[in-house]
Amino acid sequence: MLYFTAMVDYDLCVIGGGINGAGIARDAAGRGLSVFLVEAGDLASATSSSSTKLIHGGLRYLEYFEFGLVRESLKEREILLQGAPHLVWPLEFVLPHDEDQRPAWMIRLGLFLYDHLAGRKKLAGSRGLDLKSHEYGKILADRYQKGFVYSDCWGNDARLVVLNAMDAMERGAEILTRTACTRLHCQGDLWRVSILDIGSGEERDITAAMVINAAGPWVRGVLEASDLASKESDVPRVRLVKGSHIVVPKRYEGNQAYLIQQKDKRVVFVIPYEHDFTLIGTTEEDYEGDPIAAQISPGEVAYLCAAYNDAFRSQVLSGDVVWSYSGVRPLFSHGFDEGDGNATSASRDYRLYRHKDMQAPMISVFGGKLTTHRHLAEEAVSKILKMAGKSGAAWTFADPLPGGDIDDFDAFLVTQGARYLWIPEGLLERYARSYGTRMDRFLSGAGSLEDLGVHYGDDVYEAEIVYLVRYEWAREVDDILWRRSKLGLHVVPQTAQNLTRALKEILEGTNP
Ligand SMILES: Cc1cc2nc3c(=O)[nH]c(=O)nc-3n(C[C@H](O)[C@H](O)[C@H](O)COP(=O)(O)OP(=O)(O)OC[C@H]3O[C@@H](n4cnc5c(N)ncnc54)[C@H](O)[C@@H]3O)c2cc1C
Repeated sequence: MLYFTAMVDYDLCVIGGGINGAGIARDAAGRGLSVFLVEAGDLASATSSSSTKLIHGGLRYLEYFEFGLVRESLKEREILLQGAPHLVWPLEFVLPHDEDQRPAWMIRLGLFLYDHLAGRKKLAGSRGLDLKSHEYGKILADRYQKGFVYSDCWGNDARLVVLNAMDAMERGAEILTRTACTRLHCQGDLWRVSILDIGSGEERDITAAMVINAAGPWVRGVLEASDLASKESDVPRVRLVKGSHIVVPKRYEGNQAYLIQQKDKRVVFVIPYEHDFTLIGTTEEDYEGDPIAAQISPGEVAYLCAAYNDAFRSQVLSGDVVWSYSGVRPLFSHGFDEGDGNATSASRDYRLYRHKDMQAPMISVFGGKLTTHRHLAEEAVSKILKMAGKSGAAWTFADPLPGGDIDDFDAFLVTQGARYLWIPEGLLERYARSYGTRMDRFLSGAGSLEDLGVHYGDDVYEAEIVYLVRYEWAREVDDILWRRSKLGLHVVPQTAQNLTRALKEILEGTNP
């Protein structure tokens, strides 16, 4: 609406509906741009639903002297905690220590820096622990005498993506899922973008003044399909690194997570998950092939079980694994200079590559973390506006995500409990965690569970599903069971079947 509409359909076309694409669409729409986002699958169907879900500074990056990156990530942690308190929450991490690991003084120093590098408002500082007497040590292997505990944040990666997309849409963006960008063509000072509706096979072109390619592991693929990344060009390469997690039935009581240092210098996290489970991950191995097909290997399962078994009294066997997931990190290849002249930027975890040889502005996003997506988006939009000779004020640091207008999550839960006395405690908490204040959109007016419409089984009611279809782009049952929620871990097969049938009816408009 603001800039180029006389000549083009949209100001900005964003390719990819992972956390970075959705964050960019939100930022740009909020600056008044007309935005079009295409996502080939479901929102967050790739890397952005496969992370360890830490919203963190990255304690281990301190070892590589990446102070700038850690400070920036810690600042983002505070912003996300403030703007999405239903999706991002503090978690204590226990770091058991023994003689074979990094020396205790080094860990103490690292934790001191971690505590003080960026303004820490809500989280507790780190401290030493006597694991022989502290309850956190009871489940650990006998050899651990001492340890440390520090606070970080943990969140819901896939829902963060959806809420960014939702905010973008509410600010005027058009978001098309299951629609792939098949070709980009620069025609003078505009982009012609060919898109394919995956379901219908229908192809069409749209035009945009600017393009941001946020296709994650496919970032180069998008460029290569449009002859925009020749071998001779300085366009970065991506190194695809697979990481897998296993989910096992809950191993211990308590909300604390554990960070287990491995002999190969990697770290494995053990995190309470979805009330009834424990999440263990991650692995790291180079990957070739289609990123969407990444799957855990028996070797990775064995590695994660061994990491757990070495550190804890109880044992995990491969047969205990109830679910696993794998994602592919699109790490940018080092060794190129995008022209900023900033040498230290080489140590940062993402690059915004400007396609300077094109007349119409375009940026490709290489790398990035869930934690830094807001900052990345802000930088990408400012940068592309600058390329177009325009400007627009950054705003996302101050505004909550949809449903995140909550001062204190615990107090919110109590208020909602009093308001919806008829909702069982567990279900109320799930609604509050998933939707924040937006839960009222499908609950207000109801006075009993019967008022929520058809009960599909377990804790799944029609009102929530209709909401997910209407406002959260849910189209297939896995969108609901594994990305909008993790109900897939909890429901019986009959509920999933009922849901599949109901979803079809809702989408066809035959739902009464
Ligand atoms: C194992 C693992 C653990 C991690 N843990 C953490 C963590 O704890 N904390 C943290 O901060 N970060 C973590 N990360 C990093 C974080 O998950 C990623 O940086 C982030 O999800 C990348 O998001 P993205 O939007 O760039 O990519 P993606 O989420 O992959 O999104 C790219 C999207 O583009 C779409 N697409 C591709 N081609 C096209 C096309 N032609 N047209 C339209 N759409 C297209 C894809 O379908 C995909 O949905 C982890 C990563 C991995 C793999």
